Amino acid sequence: MNPPFRIGNGYDIHRLVPERALILGGVTIPHSLGLLGHSDADVLTHAIMDALLGALSLGDIGHYFPPDDPRWAGADSVMLLTQVRQLVAERGWQVGNVDTVVVAERPKLKPHIPAMQARLAAALQVTPAQVGVKATTNERLGPVGREEGIAAYAVALLTPVRS
Ligand code: MG
Repeated sequence: MNPPFRIGNGYDIHRLVPERALILGGVTIPHSLGLLGHSDADVLTHAIMDALLGALSLGDIGHYFPPDDPRWAGADSVMLLTQVRQLVAERGWQVGNVDTVVVAERPKLKPHIPAMQARLAAALQVTPAQVGVKATTNERLGPVGREEGIAAYAVALLTPVRS
């Protein structure tokens, strides 16, 4: 018998480079560096997408949005998240909650977290209280600590859509 929930986890990391916007959770954050990627490189939103897909064993975002596909060049990752939420809904599931951690040495993310929660919650069709966003540094250790990139982790709990 299947339990009345599914859980998934996601991880992503993108490189920090000059002359790119820093977009996390669909929010543009003022900073001297931004994340490099084919889409808008929103590492937090990508981790959430992988958590949702993983919860239903549907593969990963590279399968649905290949990085060599010109359709996703510069894509708003929150729009891609909306598509993943629809995929999940088509299979009879909805988001119970998601929880995330962004690992970034700089800038300070705390002031931007409520805006990230609001944008992500709207895409996921849940309340902001169902979207945990936490930020931590890597204590100057490793590539994230050297500000070479930003990483994100996410877990998602799905519950059946009541019909
Ligand atoms: Mg990514």
